[in-house]
Amino acid sequence: MSYAPNSPAARDVRYFLHPFTNHVAHEERGPIIIERGEGIYLFDDEGKRYIEGLAGLWCASLGFSEKRLVEAAKAQLETLPYTHAFAHRSCTPVIDLAEKLISMAPPPMSKVFFGVSGSDAVDSAIKFAWYYNNALDRPGKKKIIARKRAYHGVTIAGGSLTALGYVQDGFDLPLNHVRFTDTPCYYREGQPGESEKDFTERLARNLESLIEEEGAETIAAFFAEPVMGAGGVMVPPKGYFQRVQEILRKHDILFVADEVICGFGRTGNMWGSQTYGIRPDIVTCAKQLSAAYVPISAVMVSDDVYGVLRDYSGRLGNFGTGFTYSGHPLTAAVALETLKIYEEDDVLGHVRAVMPKFQQRLTALMESPIVGEARGVGLIGGVEIVSDKVTKALYPPERKAAALIMNMAAEDGLFVRALAGDVIGVCPPLIISEKEIDDLFDRLERTLAKAVPELQ
Ligand code: PLP
Repeated sequence: MSYAPNSPAARDVRYFLHPFTNHVAHEERGPIIIERGEGIYLFDDEGKRYIEGLAGLWCASLGFSEKRLVEAAKAQLETLPYTHAFAHRSCTPVIDLAEKLISMAPPPMSKVFFGVSGSDAVDSAIKFAWYYNNALDRPGKKKIIARKRAYHGVTIAGGSLTALGYVQDGFDLPLNHVRFTDTPCYYREGQPGESEKDFTERLARNLESLIEEEGAETIAAFFAEPVMGAGGVMVPPKGYFQRVQEILRKHDILFVADEVICGFGRTGNMWGSQTYGIRPDIVTCAKQLSAAYVPISAVMVSDDVYGVLRDYSGRLGNFGTGFTYSGHPLTAAVALETLKIYEEDDVLGHVRAVMPKFQQRLTALMESPIVGEARGVGLIGGVEIVSDKVTKALYPPERKAAALIMNMAAEDGLFVRALAGDVIGVCPPLIISEKEIDDLFDRLERTLAKAVPELQ
């Protein structure tokens, strides 16, 4: 493809090393340049309108024109654009945000540490788990258990927990401190004739066997997304997290709930941990924390974990970790305003009101001959594309079935995302109306209908 010299597209291809992009294909196709947003819609540089059906990357909860967030950012930039939080320094927006977050956190969280991305939150949580065990004089208790098809970011430690080939290939990941257990996806992983209850039991047994084989004294923490997002929107089977927690408690292993996608209303409760009865020791969150208007993440720890970290920092003379922007006044002010909007506009009440329609339209996609399962909870859904509904066979990878559908949907003005395992992810802004949900699924239905002859 050729671009006008010095057009934005030409300059993009010339200078910008895109994340998660095939650079050879990018040089041929060029970028989709987004110019502006309004409500749940984005507009490209040719004025074409798209429904942002994945809320950006599962993050733009309040859409793209929330004036209160712009005002909060402006006011903070005019007052205090920056100060840091090292060595006892602080500022009011960060204190207010910390208080607010802890007041709404899944119990029993008691303290919060700030970062800038979900990945750094996961890395910090790993460090906290290691520091915790060193504090308790258990230097051998360091391994982390994650689940196959988990997504916990891309940094070297977090990316090691992300059990997806396309994240690890070529980057010498994972590091050797990680062990993987089963994906809790009954549709894809359940054995023929196995009930959901038996499936859950098998996964629990496998987790316990893994812990026993490795030795519980070598395992620090278990990381889990309440609903697995980027790995293909996997909703856990009934009773799964109860069994997992019994096993972790028995073996004195920390539970880290990675709420980077699920946090702030996505599953129909404020936290995925509430939807699935999880009582975590550590929680990571980001994305919807600031409605994606500014980059901020948080790691919350329980009172028990805090007590151990606190005493050890006293002994070492420092809790030697933190970023230049751990507790940035601008990002804190915007996040605080986001949390106020969630409360004052009853965004959770809205999610609960519209999610039955979302789930009903999602489930109806299973009528398509190429949809094996359409699964979800709250305002998150995954549509698994198969070549055979009976055997659940996927299309050969070179057909890139989900990517084809993603591109066809974009032509019809809908952004969705092709995920691992040929799953189409749907995760719109939380403010989406019922009418807009219909519009989104009308487009997705049309796209699937068009994709059938292309794929079969
Ligand atoms: N954890 C989960 C569950 C995520 O879904 C993501 C990103 O999608 C991350 C961590 C990493 O977040 P970030 O891309 O902000 O680094």
